[in-house]
Amino acid sequence: LHRSAPALLGKAMNVSFEFFPPRSGDMESQLWESVMRLAPFNPDFVSVTYGAGGSTRQPTLATVRRLLSETELKPAAHLTCVNSTRDQVDAVAREFWNAGVRHFVALRGDSPDGIGKRYRPHPEGYGNAAELVAGLKAFADFEISVSAYPEKHPESPDFMTDIDMLKRKVDNGATRAITQFFFDNDSYERYVERVRRAGIYIPIVPGILPIHNFGQVAEFAGRCGASIPGWLAQRFEGLDNDPQTRALVSATVAADQVMDLVERGVQDFHFYTMNRAQLVYAICHLLGLRAPVTGTPVTGNAAA
Ligand code: FAD
Repeated sequence: LHRSAPALLGKAMNVSFEFFPPRSGDMESQLWESVMRLAPFNPDFVSVTYGAGGSTRQPTLATVRRLLSETELKPAAHLTCVNSTRDQVDAVAREFWNAGVRHFVALRGDSPDGIGKRYRPHPEGYGNAAELVAGLKAFADFEISVSAYPEKHPESPDFMTDIDMLKRKVDNGATRAITQFFFDNDSYERYVERVRRAGIYIPIVPGILPIHNFGQVAEFAGRCGASIPGWLAQRFEGLDNDPQTRALVSATVAADQVMDLVERGVQDFHFYTMNRAQLVYAICHLLGLRAPVTGTPVTGNAAA
């Protein structure tokens, strides 16, 4: 880690945090404890995910409203267009606009048949994320972030098709891409080079997923086209029943990844927090960010 100390000197790191809307009272407490614990890092924005087909419209909206009314944070709402007509999506966008949202993470969403299954757009819907970006921009001058896939999206036959979709999203008004999570920094670097060669100059912000449960992450990675390097699986080997060691290993893995990206010149990071603060807090600290010291010992969900 000490290798990265010189790389950090004098650099301002920008972070953003992703949360998902809670499904129960307990999850709600965990979410808000995590939000409050991470808020002092002054993120560029905090984003709230959206269930494909609008399944979390109300909870996403409620979470964003609470962020706007109770914190100084700038929320970004995720929005998907799968399984919805254009009118339905536009109505949701209007609802968010009326609530005070000015930033969307605009996404197509997964096929209702499952990740990687052939996507069929709604006959009266937006066909893909690029069309959604255009629709949102036609409605209001939202700030728009979109997805990017360093190891390509599972539906893309090749990288050129994938990057072509990113280009269309940028041409329609997206000003930031957030990547799918990845663990191989070389693949991220190669992807950014490809993107730049295609004439795309918006920030390609790495999406960092601290690993809370290796089995779940490996399973999810398999479905969404992210690779799990052999060394990573090896690090978690035999730790299924040892959560404390697992947490220490997770912290090391995530810190190594982020500090290596800093060495490669990355200054913006998006964290998939999974509504848990501890690992992300530690990584932000390593990045040189500091929250005011309160003198109160940290306990409870925010420490988990
Ligand atoms: P698009 O950008 O429209 O397409 C993705 C890729 O698929 C393209 O790169 C393109 O090459 C390929 N493709 C598209 N159409 C075709 C075609 N006809 N033929 C060949 N290839 C094609 N999902 C949720 O449900 N809710 C969320 O809140 C959410 N948040 C996310 C946040 C981030 C940062 C990321 C990276 C993903 C998120 N997802 C979310 C998952 C996302 O919805 C899925 O990955 C989905 O499968 C693709 O959505 P997209 O916006 O990337 O699609």
